Amino acid sequence: MYPLDGKELIYECIRCKQISDTESKYCENCISKNNEERYGRCKECNEIITGKNWCQTCNSKRFQQNFDKWTSGNDDIDKFIQNTQLSAKNCCQILEWIPYNRFNKPVFIAEGGFGKVHKATWKDGYISHWDTGKNQWSRLNKSKLVAIKSLSKSQNITMEFINEITIHLKIHRVKSPLQVIRCYGISLHPETKNYIMVMNYAEKGNLQNYLNKKRKKIKYKIGKWPQVNLDLNLQMWKSRFDILFSISSGLLKIHGKRLIHRDLHIGNIVCDSIPCITDMGLCKPANYNELENKEEMYGVVSYLAPEILRGGCYTQASDIYSFGIIIYVVISESPPYYNIAHNGFLAVNICEGLRPEFDIKVPQIILHLIKRCLDADPLKRPDIKELTRTFRRWQEEYNKYYKKNEENQEESTRTELIEQIEEVEKINKSLLNNSSMINKKHPEAIYKSIPFNYKNLPEPKNPDDYYKSYENISSKKYPEYVLKSDNSDDYESFRID
Ligand SMILES: [Zn+2]
Ligand SMILES: [Zn+2]
Repeated sequence: MYPLDGKELIYECIRCKQISDTESKYCENCISKNNEERYGRCKECNEIITGKNWCQTCNSKRFQQNFDKWTSGNDDIDKFIQNTQLSAKNCCQILEWIPYNRFNKPVFIAEGGFGKVHKATWKDGYISHWDTGKNQWSRLNKSKLVAIKSLSKSQNITMEFINEITIHLKIHRVKSPLQVIRCYGISLHPETKNYIMVMNYAEKGNLQNYLNKKRKKIKYKIGKWPQVNLDLNLQMWKSRFDILFSISSGLLKIHGKRLIHRDLHIGNIVCDSIPCITDMGLCKPANYNELENKEEMYGVVSYLAPEILRGGCYTQASDIYSFGIIIYVVISESPPYYNIAHNGFLAVNICEGLRPEFDIKVPQIILHLIKRCLDADPLKRPDIKELTRTFRRWQEEYNKYYKKNEENQEESTRTELIEQIEEVEKINKSLLNNSSMINKKHPEAIYKSIPFNYKNLPEPKNPDDYYKSYENISSKKYPEYVLKSDNSDDYESFRID
């Protein structure tokens, strides 16, 4: 993720209306006053306490006394970690150097475009506050699982890698938002010598697994209590709105800090108690510098906005496009363009207006929102505030309707959204009964970040009937040649259900 623009930004404190340059709702003065009212003063140094159980003055001294007791082996990283410890105003703002032997039993879980992810138990857990009685750091989540992500070639570390983690920390400045995964510290793999980011481990895995589990759980419920008359598909809509609201709230936190994620795709959404966003642009080589390597771009092709495929600059609107594809995935429960190869032909077609296809009927009101997110013109895409508000409203409407339905009450909660959902579900039922619906993944449908460099892509445009036809996202069909494949026997089935 990167700051939206390089410009110096000016902020007005919402309490005293003074102009300041700190990226925050309140000026330093008001924050201080507010902290004093809220937390009071430190019993040891009498300074104003800066966060919950956190005195910056005292804690920075405690960290400093320990600086000569650890090193990452890289001066820049040492300084970087030290700075977070000196400037932290609460426990979410610090990073630690975590020696590799503090992890138990790493188990491989995934390989991204630029590194491997393992899960492991972290013996110590993260620092929550200073325990004055015991005279040591008090830690939470001892011996809990963390995700450790090694970044290949990161021994040639650059400031860029460090800047990225800084941005990551920025999101967790005041309070840790649940919808964005937290980073606890940095470690080093003793053999590969690759640096490792230590992050919160999301118990429920990726979004695809999460959706599959939800479906199974609902099926189980239906099997066990058939008299309750639960409808699987109607239940799934409830889960979908919950998921989409959660992801959009996470992206709102990121865009709210004037940042761009740049690499949003389903693989970067992991599920803990709720789905959350991870990989704040770290999913690229740590030694990668965008300005120096203008021609080297990375991404999951099927999630990239046409202007990015053509080599344009990342914007919040290009994040919205990627989020539009995520909305498609959450609703269709299929990866985008799973039955075709993800290559230059796909890129040309995306620029010419091709979008993923639903094989189920989707309410027009939802289709319209997805269409806007996937508009070829970035200026026509909605912003994340609007999306979050919309999902919130749909979630509420649906919950109300759902509750009434369970209590067998009638009609009063049927909004336009509900009416459309009921209507499409009647059609979907017959669709599902009539076809075998076994989806096969094309061997060249790739869902991890890869380098891309497409030359001479056409100017992005919407098909003429884009906002007129509501049969599917786009009326443009896959051309014959992209559907052809010599090794169709190698197709791999992806849908678990
Ligand atoms: Zn102020
Ligand atoms: Zn103090």
